[in-house]
Amino acid sequence: MPTTIQVHDKHFEILLKQTQIEERIAEMASEIAQDYEGKKPIFLAILNGSFMFAAHLLKTMSIPCEITFVRVSSYQNTSSTGQVTEVLGLRENLSGRNVVVLEDIIDTGVTMSQILPQLASQNPESLEVVSLFQKPEALKCPLNVKYLGFPIENRFIIGYGLDYNGLGRNLGDLYVLKEKV
Ligand code: 5GP
Repeated sequence: MPTTIQVHDKHFEILLKQTQIEERIAEMASEIAQDYEGKKPIFLAILNGSFMFAAHLLKTMSIPCEITFVRVSSYQNTSSTGQVTEVLGLRENLSGRNVVVLEDIIDTGVTMSQILPQLASQNPESLEVVSLFQKPEALKCPLNVKYLGFPIENRFIIGYGLDYNGLGRNLGDLYVLKEKV
């Protein structure tokens, strides 16, 4: 793939090659496999962004495990100023399970900090977060990300599952929005 691409009206430059991303994911998988040996974890991948990350992580996961996919819906609460985020499509019972949430990127942390209490209310045995990317400078809510692939700068990225207005999810490499010159 070229080092600079255009998606809709914006220009992006390459940040990480697919091979670098997937080497790191394989390392994360072996760390998780060590920690969850004998625990048959259930991975909860958040759609759409985490589909590519989840696929590679699970392919390189050496222990028995389950995976399920959920969506989150986000809307403005009319009776308060806050944003409300709900987990949709979860059919599994998480009670007593070792639950590992798979996220593509943590930005402000608002989404994750609203999802976690909803999952915790089902009384899982354990509940941890894995994120492929995180923008540490953008974090607004205290959040413990147990396994992180790459900390990145506070800039907009696409590729490896992440989109810009619907496009770019299929790119194997990761691209960052070009600064205006
Ligand atoms: P948070 O609630 O942590 O602020 O936002 C998390 C969600 O925002 C991610 O799951 C992702 O959908 C979206 N997001 C945050 N930063 C980026 C980015 O740089 N690129 C893309 N494509 N989505 C992002």
